[in-house]
Amino acid sequence: MRLEINGWSSKITFSATHVIPMHRKCGRLHGHDYAINMSIEGEMGPDGVILDFISVKEFLRGIASELDHRVLIPGRDRGVTVNKETVKFKIGDKEFSFPKGDCIILDIDVASAETLASFVLQRVLDKVKFPKNVKHIEIGVDEGRGQGAWTGKDL
Ligand SMILES: [Zn+2]
Repeated sequence: MRLEINGWSSKITFSATHVIPMHRKCGRLHGHDYAINMSIEGEMGPDGVILDFISVKEFLRGIASELDHRVLIPGRDRGVTVNKETVKFKIGDKEFSFPKGDCIILDIDVASAETLASFVLQRVLDKVKFPKNVKHIEIGVDEGRGQGAWTGKDL
C-alpha cells in the first residue's frame, strides 16, 4: 500500500532562485515555486494506517522553510566561494555576488530538482524514524507545477 503527500495541496512549498551553469536558458539567474512531495510504501498496521504522516509533513515543511526565499547555492561547485558576508558564484565569464544571508549553501553539485530531491531524501533518512512496516520512501521535488524529479530508497 502506498501513502502520498502532495506538496502543493499540503503547502510544503518554497520559492527560490537558482542558476544552472552552462545551461542555455537556465544559465541565467531565475526563480521557481517548488513543492516537496513524498510517497511512502508499506504494510498497513493494526490501526489501519501505514504511518501517521502529520509529523512527516511538519518535517518536510521545516526543510521547505529553510529553502524558502533563498538563493540555492551548490556548495560543491568549484565556482562558489563563501566569504564572511558574501557568496560569490563564478560561472564561465560571469560572476554573481550575493549577500550570504540571502543564500542557502547546499552540499550538492548543481541546484537542480534532481539534486534537491536527493538532498531532501537524505535529510529525511537522517532525521525521521519510520516504523518497521514502512518499506520504501520516495521524495519528489517539483520545479513548478507538473515537472519534478523523484528519488527513493528501500528501508
Ligand atoms: Zn530553473
